Amino acid sequence: MRHNGAVTTSDFGPTDRVVIVGGGPGGYEAALVAAQLGADVTVVDSDGIGGSAVVTDCVPSKTLIATAELMTELAGAPELGISFEDHEGDAAHHVTADLARVNERVKRLAADQSADIEERLEREDVRILRGRGRLDGPGAVVVELADGGTETLEADAVLLATGAAPRTLPTAEPDGERILTWEQVYDLTEVPSRMIVVGSGVTGAEFASAYMALGIDVVLVSSRDRVLPGEDADAAKVLEDVLTRRGMEVLSRSRMQSVEREGDEVTVTLTDGRTVMGSHCLLALGSVPKTEDLGLEEAEVRVDDGGFVKVDRVSRTSARGVYAAGDCTGVLMLASVAAMQGRIAMWHFLGDAVNPLDLRQVSSNVFTAPEIATVGCSQKAVDEGEIAVESVRLDLAGNARAKMQGVHDGFVKLFCRPGTGIIVGGVVVGPRASELVHPISIAVAESLTVDQLTHAFTVYPSMSGSIAEAARRLHHSPT
Ligand SMILES: Cc1cc2nc3c(=O)[nH]c(=O)nc-3n(C[C@H](O)[C@H](O)[C@H](O)COP(=O)(O)OP(=O)(O)OC[C@H]3O[C@@H](n4cnc5c(N)ncnc54)[C@H](O)[C@@H]3O)c2cc1C
Repeated sequence: MRHNGAVTTSDFGPTDRVVIVGGGPGGYEAALVAAQLGADVTVVDSDGIGGSAVVTDCVPSKTLIATAELMTELAGAPELGISFEDHEGDAAHHVTADLARVNERVKRLAADQSADIEERLEREDVRILRGRGRLDGPGAVVVELADGGTETLEADAVLLATGAAPRTLPTAEPDGERILTWEQVYDLTEVPSRMIVVGSGVTGAEFASAYMALGIDVVLVSSRDRVLPGEDADAAKVLEDVLTRRGMEVLSRSRMQSVEREGDEVTVTLTDGRTVMGSHCLLALGSVPKTEDLGLEEAEVRVDDGGFVKVDRVSRTSARGVYAAGDCTGVLMLASVAAMQGRIAMWHFLGDAVNPLDLRQVSSNVFTAPEIATVGCSQKAVDEGEIAVESVRLDLAGNARAKMQGVHDGFVKLFCRPGTGIIVGGVVVGPRASELVHPISIAVAESLTVDQLTHAFTVYPSMSGSIAEAARRLHHSPT
């Protein structure tokens, strides 16, 4: 029962027992909802509350990127009339980041965030069990406790939120020192002299952009024609142009065959026989679900060919009473989506009002410099004829605030339905695009028209003025 005296469904019957396997955003956000609705909740986690999102992936990478962002801004300082001098009054040529200190901060911040979430769960009377959970049929979870022994938890509902792990290849095994997954980079204490990033999806692009901003020589090995093959092509082009202009070597249509280390040197061999040498290699080859040895088959929880748990839009699996959320479902590998899937599962199980997951409303961001934020329908869907839209693209270079801030790259793109002018999607490329995209997200979620968006004031001068201007350009005189 809740502490604040609210009457919940459990006041009228036996308390529902919910067991959640995995303490990442899919798991802990679900736990908070279930506790709020009066359930008896246990979270089983093997590697730290907050999950990979907090301990190794999202929070650490964005903390590293915060330092990289500042370095990018400092690189633009001379244009704004600032110069740095060293202690003898000479012009300083380099501003350097101390990678050991940066990594120390990253790890501390991640650990603090994990502890904050754990405290919050405890305040809400959620029981936390450290160990590895496994289904024992659909109505029970057996836990191999971290400090020895096992415990069996009976459950009216189980939520699986076990996440995913970095994909590796037998020909490119990480050694944790020079051949690294994204989970291992924060143990680096020395600055790599040349970092080879293999993989140009979101994770590869973010690390390549960040390490370059920190002053590291970066080579990005991409198997595709361009970086970020899954993102808006115009946005990806802007990013690739900026990265190469700033000095990154981008090898496109270059598929990695193997990665080998000899002493302090790492060699990446490509499938066409070319080799790339560096001091370190970061593998960003995608993720595999952590769904092995979870007792899924015995409990009749179905998985797809890639091992991802199959779920519907209210997070139900094929087994009655078993739900799944987050990366282990492969629906859309974002912390925000994992959290929403987890909440939806609990709202559904505990009989609260629930809207099925709607991926058309998800906003997401690539934390490169510049950032790329998207929401709603994509240019690809438009080009493939899946949806009819009118669109406009407005470069930020014409925006007064952008000029003042020395921002030369980026744009705002809006999609609206012909006739009604209802906004169905947008893309923002620029500094802090992750913040700028929010008005477009609201417009998409609330089916606002371009004209409604233009009625709201924007501050002058501001980058968001370009969003309103894009909406004005899509105005149609009533016929
Ligand atoms: C480098 C990187 C950066 C990212 N940045 C962002 C970002 O900026 N924004 C964003 O929205 N998303 C980001 N993501 C994606 C995001 O991290 C994931 O979508 C998110 O972690 C998924 O949450 P989850 O709860 O499904 O799993 P996880 O966060 O992986 O948590 C699962 C937890 O379950 C535990 N577990 C696994 N098996 C068991 C078991 N059998 N018993 C007990 N515990 C178990 C795991 O150890 C882990 O602690 C990023 C991903 C990467 C790789």
